[in-house]
Amino acid sequence: MAELDLLEQELAAELPGHMRAFARAHAEGRVPPPAPLIARLSSSLDTVLAALPHERLADRAVALLRLLVPLAIESDPAVAAVRAQPATWDGLSALSAARNSVSRDRFGMDAIALIHRLHGTPDPVVEIDVPGPLIAGWMDRGPAIDAVAIDDVWHAIATRFGLTGSVRIDRSATASPRTFVIEPLREVIVVVPQVIDSPMTRYTVLHELGHAAIALVQPPGIPRVLDEAAASYIARLAEPPSWLPPRWVNELAVEARLRRFALAAMLDDVERSLPALPQLPGRIPPPALWTDPGAQASYVAAEAIAERLRKELGVNPPRGQFARALAAERDRIDGRSVF
Ligand SMILES: [Zn+2]
Repeated sequence: MAELDLLEQELAAELPGHMRAFARAHAEGRVPPPAPLIARLSSSLDTVLAALPHERLADRAVALLRLLVPLAIESDPAVAAVRAQPATWDGLSALSAARNSVSRDRFGMDAIALIHRLHGTPDPVVEIDVPGPLIAGWMDRGPAIDAVAIDDVWHAIATRFGLTGSVRIDRSATASPRTFVIEPLREVIVVVPQVIDSPMTRYTVLHELGHAAIALVQPPGIPRVLDEAAASYIARLAEPPSWLPPRWVNELAVEARLRRFALAAMLDDVERSLPALPQLPGRIPPPALWTDPGAQASYVAAEAIAERLRKELGVNPPRGQFARALAAERDRIDGRSVF
């Protein structure tokens, strides 16, 4: 299908420059640049939706939809208008209704349901759980690590898993940690906090390095659940016993992971009820529900995959095994993502 080839080529040409500008804007706390026009055109979406029913093209179509669907929903004027308001629970309900309206018109199902299907989390995963208290010591500050220590830990991970490609670490005093795939399989920029001086901030660095790791072995359109599973798998290297440099290892990491899991399960439950609001955990909705719809289900389901990776790969996986294990997981998810 020539149109699909052309669309993939145009995106591959446009996205690296866009992602580089996006990473810079994110680190500096500026409004990110708009996605390339080709990614927002209604005709691009038509091309992909036309390819979706063809078995031979379905995986490529799904990979493209993971990029195009959120752009189509979030750039709708009605959705953008509600999202620009301050975040409140009633606002989240309105935002969810606006997202559903666009999604139903264009794709025939609600927005969260569609995102869950595309990213390998169609079914609710766990019963709601109540997160325990903050983990004592997890956020305690000590000596900060420097850029060399981050390079060292990345080098240790890249060597162990046979990863090649460029990973640049940018520091930001204000931005949330985030990974930007500039060119899949080749180049990644990771934004991490300016000051990394607690078990929690070291964990966030490892988590983002996990996103960088999968971006270097998997082609674009990675299902979110697998992306988060790779991040969780690498972050679990902080759990003793570990071959990471000692300052990256912390015995509180297991407890902190279980707490994050419970929080995500609770927020996933809230998100699956939208636009209804049967329960309100907190005074205002967490930013993730506002700007990253559908992500909580991926955080939850990712843990089972991360567990499986840890079991299958063992402590010292043969070179190439990390990439092969992720490819096998992706095949399984992609096959279930067609709608
Ligand atoms: Zn993540």
